[in-house]
Amino acid sequence: MTASAPILLTPGPLTTSARTRAAMLTDWGSWDGSFNALTARVCDALVGIAGGTGSHSCVPLQGSGTFAVEAAVGSFVPRTGKVLVLVNGAYGKRLATICERLGRAFTVYETDDDVPTTPEAVDGLLAADPAITHVGLIHCETSTGILNPLEAIAAVVAARGRRLIVDAMSSFGALPIDAARVPFEALIAASGKCLEGVPGMGFVIARTEALLAAEGNTASLALDLRDQHLYMQRTGQWRFTPPTHVVAALDAALAQYDEEGGLPARHARYAANCEALIGGMTGLGLRSFLAPEIQAPIIVTFHAPRDGRYRFPDFYRAVRAKGFILYPGKLTKLETFRVGCIGAVTPADMERAVAAVAETFRELRIETL
Ligand SMILES: *Cc1c(COP(=O)(O)O)cnc(C)c1O
Repeated sequence: MTASAPILLTPGPLTTSARTRAAMLTDWGSWDGSFNALTARVCDALVGIAGGTGSHSCVPLQGSGTFAVEAAVGSFVPRTGKVLVLVNGAYGKRLATICERLGRAFTVYETDDDVPTTPEAVDGLLAADPAITHVGLIHCETSTGILNPLEAIAAVVAARGRRLIVDAMSSFGALPIDAARVPFEALIAASGKCLEGVPGMGFVIARTEALLAAEGNTASLALDLRDQHLYMQRTGQWRFTPPTHVVAALDAALAQYDEEGGLPARHARYAANCEALIGGMTGLGLRSFLAPEIQAPIIVTFHAPRDGRYRFPDFYRAVRAKGFILYPGKLTKLETFRVGCIGAVTPADMERAVAAVAETFRELRIETL
């Protein structure tokens, strides 16, 4: 790739394969049977990845991932409900903002950006507040790359008779989530992350029963998941104009996902990317922000070099000129930058990215040691 077609080491939009991009060269009629079949195939595949075949449904939704998160909160949390929002980064905070905007009662439990939420803490909070009906959890908090213990938290939430809403946006497809063993009411993800589609479609996987029961909760027309589901069941079509090219690209991306070997293979490639990245950057004298045991192989936060000559915009531009797009940090108290491990990229790409970073430090005369 050249500087004009850089490799995106960002957590969505991300680098897609030529085959996925080529799938967007066809125009689809939204009423046409062939497009309805495409939608049905994509939804079936997504439910399958979640291990929910037979018990769960997938409701696709136009828009970026946040639209689907907002739709899930509005559709599943009754107006009299109360959400315990577990926060250790920007996406957890966004979930709390959504509750606030939707007028749902909520309470926030926040830990530091490098501290996962524990099931013990959730258990205590649920025991202390019987008004809480739902718990909102970010599986992999993309603002740092920290992994929260979904399975253990889901077990505690279920044992206390509450319901779990999981933002699995940056983990779905790469980290195992088995609906048969992990009780959740709604699991939210999107086309343009670990499935390596293009951005433009979110989706919510939910128990079909819970979806049908979610009547009269949301004040929104466009973000009503139950409505979208019922309409799609009845007609095979999306309620409003579908992102046809995005769905076609996701269908092609899912075919490649299967060919690669499904979730275990996707996870293994990302883990190898992450290892090559952290190994290479450590060799340059950079330190990653998270301890290895809580680092998801999705995105890595690095401390910026302490050298006073370091400025993120200059660093970004120089690495960009060498063909790689990095991400700014999302921590308020520390100077950091982030590098994604996901997308149609390999450990060899990560090694080249590390070489581009090394070259950039030499050019800008930045000391890292
Ligand atoms: C990407 C992402 C979202 C959705 O963000 P959009 O900008 O709306 O696509 C939500 N939660 C997490 C954890 C994410 O990584």
